[in-house]
Amino acid sequence: MAISRGLRCCQRIFSWIPVVIISSVVLWSYYAYVFELCFFTLHNTLEKVTYVLVFHVCFVMFCWTYWKAIFTPPSTPSKKFHLSFSDKERYEMEERPDVQKQILIDIAKKLPIFTRAQSGAIRFCDRCQLIKPDRCHHCSVCETCVLKMDHHCPWVNNCVGFSNYKFFLLFLSYSMLYCVFIAATVFQYFLKFWVGELPNDRAKFHVLFLLFVALMFFVSLMFLFGYHCWLVAKNRSTLEAFSAPVFQNGPDRNGFNVGVRKNLTQVFGEDKRLWLFPVFTSQGDGHYFPLRTLCESQNPLLASEGRWGEDGGSDEDSTDGEVEHDPSVTIDVEY
Ligand SMILES: [Zn+2]
Ligand SMILES: [Zn+2]
Repeated sequence: MAISRGLRCCQRIFSWIPVVIISSVVLWSYYAYVFELCFFTLHNTLEKVTYVLVFHVCFVMFCWTYWKAIFTPPSTPSKKFHLSFSDKERYEMEERPDVQKQILIDIAKKLPIFTRAQSGAIRFCDRCQLIKPDRCHHCSVCETCVLKMDHHCPWVNNCVGFSNYKFFLLFLSYSMLYCVFIAATVFQYFLKFWVGELPNDRAKFHVLFLLFVALMFFVSLMFLFGYHCWLVAKNRSTLEAFSAPVFQNGPDRNGFNVGVRKNLTQVFGEDKRLWLFPVFTSQGDGHYFPLRTLCESQNPLLASEGRWGEDGGSDEDSTDGEVEHDPSVTIDVEY
């Protein structure tokens, strides 16, 4: 027991290594750009002031979004998705699998759940003892179920999901802007050092490395950013891009795709002035999402949040009532 606790503790410490690496590179780039380039190499005051000011805007936005992506805790399913004490007792005491399945069906009927496991079963997390909301997945690193889980990112040592997806996208954008700005402004001094127009001193080493590191990060980020732009436009998480969500009618990659504009609004919110700032503006609460196949009047996010009240709604109201009559649906536990 003590050994496994020790291992977990070591794992937690090691998981911060990528964040420490990124932070060290960024701190070095700050020193190299502001001091070695702007203060020690540049002589034109206007150029110096402009570079320092614009650099600080990029630097602050990068740090702010990186901080938010790292330290925003992943959101987990609300209490109504957990088995109640009596349901749990009933479920665990029951030895007949069919009756166990029926217990889960009854609970799921009261919840706004439209997706199923690959087998057609209701998605149940055995470890968290809850019925997974649509787009929610269990993260084995965080050891919890995460709403609209995208992926667990080692570079931010956090789960990227409903609570911080906007911050993660902004982090990618500002990282690229930071790299582009550095590369664009450093390039002419790189050439001057290269042809010997500037003295062969310590600043030369920093300026050469600034350009290489900025270009290297920019190229790798470009692919990741491009991929996530495509995912946002299609309203898919990384997990859903690999394995299409399964609905009552079967898998549908575009199940949550309600059009590019609405897809963007879901992540970034209605107020465009806040799109570029890492403040939470995503729509909904992460438990249910508009479906392509439902018109807006039936849309759980846009029109009928009230119907899924704390009491779980009535059986007559429940869209999931179809499950009971669908012979293709089986209930088992999804890990
Ligand atoms: Zn879980
Ligand atoms: Zn995680």
